[in-house]
Amino acid sequence: ETSLREALTRDEFEVYFQPVIEQVSGRISGMEALVRWRHPEQGLVSPALFIPIAEETGIIVEIGKQILRKSCFATRQLLDLGHDLVVAVNLSPAQFSADSLVSDIRATLIETGLAANKLELEITEGMLMQDPTESIHILNKIKALGIHISIDDFGTGYSSLAYLKRFPIDTLKIDQSFIRDIPHSTDDIAITEAVIALAASLRLRVVAEGVETIEQLNFLRAHKCSHLQGYYFSRPVPSAEFI
Ligand code: C2E
Ligand code: CA
Ligand code: CA
Repeated sequence: ETSLREALTRDEFEVYFQPVIEQVSGRISGMEALVRWRHPEQGLVSPALFIPIAEETGIIVEIGKQILRKSCFATRQLLDLGHDLVVAVNLSPAQFSADSLVSDIRATLIETGLAANKLELEITEGMLMQDPTESIHILNKIKALGIHISIDDFGTGYSSLAYLKRFPIDTLKIDQSFIRDIPHSTDDIAITEAVIALAASLRLRVVAEGVETIEQLNFLRAHKCSHLQGYYFSRPVPSAEFI
């Protein structure tokens, strides 16, 4: 906890970007912003190690603000270079329930000069289902700014399909655990096909996460999955390398 607070004041958090590919055109349509901690002694620390502690201690709210700001700045620069991209930023549960969420986001967009429709926020089913009525209220305020909403790790939480159509969302991200064993697992194939079909009938974009192999890519193409993300295309990289 102490190190995380120090990291904030020493500006040790960096944002890496992983491209999201539009399946039909093969074009990079956007990227996901993923935090990395450049620790002075331990080097690059994975978010899997420090996000849980940051969540528990509430420090995630401050880290999240920095990440959002850096992601918006970097995306604004990419847009200025003539690249048309949408950046997806992960929101943690603590951020989602903070009263200042909407005003913070609005202030960040103004400060960085990023158009709201170039920002997408990734939230999980669990965050929405904690208090569905309140969630719809928050999501509507975010949507009113012109920001896109995406459901991360779709299929791993407890979602209510009845709520799904009431939430003002734009994108479903199929969790990588379902993509991993394609084309070997018939169960995972069935689930992935079902999620792609569900997204299509609800008119949502669908992103397959964790695409690593040509076999997975061919399967997702054949089933008309609209967007793809994974090591097959690129690992998350620093913004200079992303350009
Ligand atoms: P996530 O949001 O589901 O992000 C996707 C994770 O999958 C990333 O791990 C990414 O590097 C990894 N990944 C991408 N393609 C592949 C692939 O083809 N194969 C495999 N095996 N993995 C792939 P990363 O960067 O370690 O992030 C882990 C988790 O930490 C994220 O999962 C997210 O829940 C959280 N996280 C990362 N950055 C942030 C952030 O800025 N804010 C918040 N609140 N959470 C973050
Ligand atoms: Ca994510
Ligand atoms: Ca995910």
